[in-house]
Amino acid sequence: MKDSKRIALVAHDNCKKALLEFVENNLEALHVHELIATGTTGGLIERLLNERMPEREKERGGVFKLKSGPLGGDQQLGALIAEGGIDVLIFFWDPMEPQPHDVDVKALLRLSVLYNIPTASNMSSAEFLVGSPYFHADYTIREGYFSEYLGRSL
Ligand code: PGA
Repeated sequence: MKDSKRIALVAHDNCKKALLEFVENNLEALHVHELIATGTTGGLIERLLNERMPEREKERGGVFKLKSGPLGGDQQLGALIAEGGIDVLIFFWDPMEPQPHDVDVKALLRLSVLYNIPTASNMSSAEFLVGSPYFHADYTIREGYFSEYLGRSL
């Protein structure tokens, strides 16, 4: 994983305010990385970045927006993880309300664990990630969860 990372950002509706607050508090740290997000979350983050740092945001080329989560965005993100296209996942999922796409949420979280992707699911864990020295440095993700699976003899 290079110094410049591909950071995925997702928030369920009840958690979008918290995610935007996190982004606002960490604009400088996040801005140097490539940002990928589910549709609605991505639109809100893009609006915030355009308001706070319009010139730099124009240069950077915005947030890469996938489909909205319930319409397949979480699955797109899971596929990106499986292909090695995501370095960090910041996913504020709602612990209080079931979602229409709960199975997709579970699949995304499963893949983030399987591929050993640094994942934050609330404000504190997201701040710990941003505060880590690895957030702006080279870091090698150790695989291993599935090496036995790949080597099994059938
Ligand atoms: P949204 O999707 O950013 O399009 O709201 C988030 C989600 O529910 O996974």
